[in-house]
Amino acid sequence: MTTESPQHYDLIVLGAGSAGYWAARTAGETGKKVALLDPGPLGGLCILRGCMPTKAMLRSSDVLHLAKTAHEVGVLVKEVGYDFPAIMARKAHWVADFASYRAQGILKQQGFTFIQGAGRFRDAHTLDVNGERLTADKFLISTGSTPYVPEVKGLKEVGYITSDEALEIAAPPKRMLVLGGGVIALELGQFFARLGTEVTLVLRGERILTNEDDDVALAMQACLEAEGIRVVNHVHMESFERRGDDKVLVGLRQGEAIELAADEVMVTLGRVPNVGMLDLSLAGVHSTPFLLDVDGHMRTNQPHIYAAGDATGRHFIVHVAIQEGIHAAKHAMGLTETAMDYRLLAWAIYSDPNVARVGLSEREAAQRGVPVVVGTYPFDDQGKALVANLTKGHVKVLAHAETGEIVGAAVVGAEGADLLHEMIVAMHFRATCRQFLEIPHLHPTLSEIWLDAVEECESQRQALAAAPVS
Ligand SMILES: Cc1cc2nc3c(=O)[nH]c(=O)nc-3n(C[C@H](O)[C@H](O)[C@H](O)COP(=O)(O)OP(=O)(O)OC[C@H]3O[C@@H](n4cnc5c(N)ncnc54)[C@H](O)[C@@H]3O)c2cc1C
Repeated sequence: MTTESPQHYDLIVLGAGSAGYWAARTAGETGKKVALLDPGPLGGLCILRGCMPTKAMLRSSDVLHLAKTAHEVGVLVKEVGYDFPAIMARKAHWVADFASYRAQGILKQQGFTFIQGAGRFRDAHTLDVNGERLTADKFLISTGSTPYVPEVKGLKEVGYITSDEALEIAAPPKRMLVLGGGVIALELGQFFARLGTEVTLVLRGERILTNEDDDVALAMQACLEAEGIRVVNHVHMESFERRGDDKVLVGLRQGEAIELAADEVMVTLGRVPNVGMLDLSLAGVHSTPFLLDVDGHMRTNQPHIYAAGDATGRHFIVHVAIQEGIHAAKHAMGLTETAMDYRLLAWAIYSDPNVARVGLSEREAAQRGVPVVVGTYPFDDQGKALVANLTKGHVKVLAHAETGEIVGAAVVGAEGADLLHEMIVAMHFRATCRQFLEIPHLHPTLSEIWLDAVEECESQRQALAAAPVS
């Protein structure tokens, strides 16, 4: 096939989720010949089975919780209940709405050709799609991820759900074992717990959120436990058994036998790249079940084959998938030579309270040898949080000990995901603590809490500067 062939493209993007859609749009704007492939359904994980359905469902369980705790602010709600089919119908309505908007965006887009079908490599420049061959100079793999399910004896036989099935469940189970203590475990675990399910988080390690600093993870864990969510740590799973209607996890906890029974088991132990069906080896692309490694330009070991978003197995965050897709497209089209910048890497958990972070944690700063001062402030000592009865959690700011530049921030607190943006903006402009403290803040607001934490960083820096050199 020649490069003039109608089946030859400058760039073929595999997967029309967030990363792929934005990559195809970006590349298409250059006037080059671009194809976007996806077997459908269109919408991508975020819309169909990720961000949007979970946030719609969490809104219902959060409002239910608010109604149940309304007496704390002097409001008496006589009868509180919920209508599960209505919660799920509301979620389904928004998923359909967003998916149809995205599908129209893809189908009407001018800059690229959309082809409905799944791609599979035949060689480093050829794909099989719908029984036809397509060739391209460059490719972008943005085929997303699938839930990781560990090989544990009996798990398949007793049956389990992942987040995919949890979003379609007919009714909340009475008791649920949630395997894992990460983002999805916390969001969906709290959703079901607030609807009355007895939820047990089963952890392999010491605590939830293993990548986070102790203060952040333990504050969130305490909030979950205060709501009645049970956390069982240090569990080594040996097998699952069915006993009557129960699904029973049999394992060891610090050398002692342990059994945990429930009606349902939800596996939320992370996600892995969805690339197994691509025949990457025929294209000479290296991958493992957990990683499709890329360089700073999002190139795999085959420099003309890029990967972005969940398919890389690195960050499972939608705005990062979009950034990576756009970056890969720009590099592939010769529009940039700079590497992807993860300095402002940010994420959030939309549990109540939220957990969110941008930039460095204390642990990462120590690992990278970045000298930092750390300022924290609790919501239970903050004016707006006190009057609004939103006193759970705290914020934390990390600033470079010498320059005073803010290099990281974390929050466990109400509206934490939204609050974090202030720190993302500050870090974008490389604000120092002193510059940040000059920014006017409305009063009373939750946002003011950042001033307290930054002030604490600055006074620590002053103290360090004033300390005699030993
Ligand atoms: C329960 C849950 C909640 C989440 N909540 C959040 C959140 O609140 N905030 C956040 O930032 N992130 C969240 N995420 C993560 C976020 O949804 C993902 O990081 C993001 O959607 C990944 O986008 P992507 O483009 O990499 O992949 P996807 O959106 O999964 O797109 C992959 C596309 O590839 C297509 N495809 C598959 N195989 C082929 C093939 N062979 N050829 C062509 N196309 C193919 C698929 O049909 C799909 O359309 C959540 C995830 C889950 C599971």
